[in-house]
Amino acid sequence: MVLKSNIPDGPLASKWTNYKANIPLVAPNNKRKLEIIVVGTGLAGASAAASLGELGYNVKVFTYHDSPRRAHSIAAQGGINAAKNYQNDGDSVYRLFYDTIKGGDYRAREANVYRLAEVSVDIIDQCVAQGVPFAREYGGLLENRSFGGVQVSRTFYARGQTGQQLLIGAYQALSRQVSLGTVKLYNRHEMLDLVKINGVARGIIARNLLTGELERHAAHCVVLATGGYGNVFYLSTNAMMCNVTAAWKSVKKGALMANPCFTQIHPTCIPVSGEYQSKLTLMSESLRNDGRVWVPRRKEDAELVRQRKLNGKDIPEEHRDYFLERRYPAFGNLVPRDVASRAAKVECDKGHGVSPTGLAVYLDFADAIQRYGRSEASKLGIQNPTAAQITELGEKVVSAKYGNLLRCMKKSPAKTPTRCR
Ligand SMILES: Cc1cc2nc3c(=O)[nH]c(=O)nc-3n(C[C@H](O)[C@H](O)[C@H](O)COP(=O)(O)OP(=O)(O)OC[C@H]3O[C@@H](n4cnc5c(N)ncnc54)[C@H](O)[C@@H]3O)c2cc1C
Repeated sequence: MVLKSNIPDGPLASKWTNYKANIPLVAPNNKRKLEIIVVGTGLAGASAAASLGELGYNVKVFTYHDSPRRAHSIAAQGGINAAKNYQNDGDSVYRLFYDTIKGGDYRAREANVYRLAEVSVDIIDQCVAQGVPFAREYGGLLENRSFGGVQVSRTFYARGQTGQQLLIGAYQALSRQVSLGTVKLYNRHEMLDLVKINGVARGIIARNLLTGELERHAAHCVVLATGGYGNVFYLSTNAMMCNVTAAWKSVKKGALMANPCFTQIHPTCIPVSGEYQSKLTLMSESLRNDGRVWVPRRKEDAELVRQRKLNGKDIPEEHRDYFLERRYPAFGNLVPRDVASRAAKVECDKGHGVSPTGLAVYLDFADAIQRYGRSEASKLGIQNPTAAQITELGEKVVSAKYGNLLRCMKKSPAKTPTRCR
């Protein structure tokens, strides 16, 4: 078996740039003669199909959902990274590349990650042009926050609905091509098999989920953009529909699958609440920008919390262990997701976990509320604000910043979703 990634030759930073500059082009009149099948209409598939249609190819795009807007991309909350360096905090294409390689435990293909970092800058502009309502600062510039594993602010977001807004943007662009006739949309169609001719993917077999009929579709090229496979795990934040059938069929046809360990782990989920759960609910990791993660330092306190005899807010500061800040002072609460998840598991395994299951840790906004509250009071010219005024002003800022994400937390072990003190 030949392992060939098709990464172009040359120095890392210019492999793809050189390749793109030298690749033979297809003339507009020839593009019209070429058929492309795209399976999937999430952020990847909808964008690919819309872009290929815009370029002039004949595109057929398939989804088993009723609408492209049902793709699981809609669930993404926290944001999208781009090395724009709007904050002038030292960001660069190289730094995004480096953080991504490191965050992926050095398993990702370097040249492809470099390209991702390079095009991240333009993707934000494209999304804005498609009408994605990213959060903006008072002056009108695009706002940023951070994701785990980074020390700069480069995450562009639309409150807690970034995926939804991006998907609507991609869907708009796709719909435009559908109406222009360059893209034909096959919704409620499930790809059942991949058709290979002389070792090359040249079509798919799909089932029309409304009529039950099997259909054959041929093309010069097949693009699979069929999403992740989180549902191989019993509990996951993926929708139950993310069933990985298309990728599995392709593996059966000889495609190689690398790094199955590349499943996203999230330290900020709503804790498991019972035996009958089929799914987990994510709270975006952007909450770790301002939320501090901690557990009771004393096991007896944790036990009392689990028995609901003690509330986290009554545990004094000296009896709290902000374990991410203690273990990883350079990144604090914004360590990469897997690092934060493992550290939380260590604490729960040691008996410091809270909630009745003992499988939860606190994510506490009390400090952020005080910080923002004091800043707001100063902005509003309030002399000697009271503690209640500071808290009220601070809560407003936190609520505006994280919006619907905090509503997810109503099931968290803390009495109020934002404060443990
Ligand atoms: C809860 C959650 C929060 C997230 N938050 C973020 C975030 O803040 N930032 C970030 O960058 N990433 C985030 N992610 C990850 C990100 O959302 C995904 O990596 C990305 O959206 C995947 O897009 P996709 O187009 O590859 O797949 P999907 O959106 O899952 O689309 C898959 C498409 O393939 C189609 N399909 C699948 N199989 C078949 C088949 N057999 N036949 C026909 N059609 C098929 C589906 O109908 C669908 O249209 C999050 C993920 C989750 C689950």
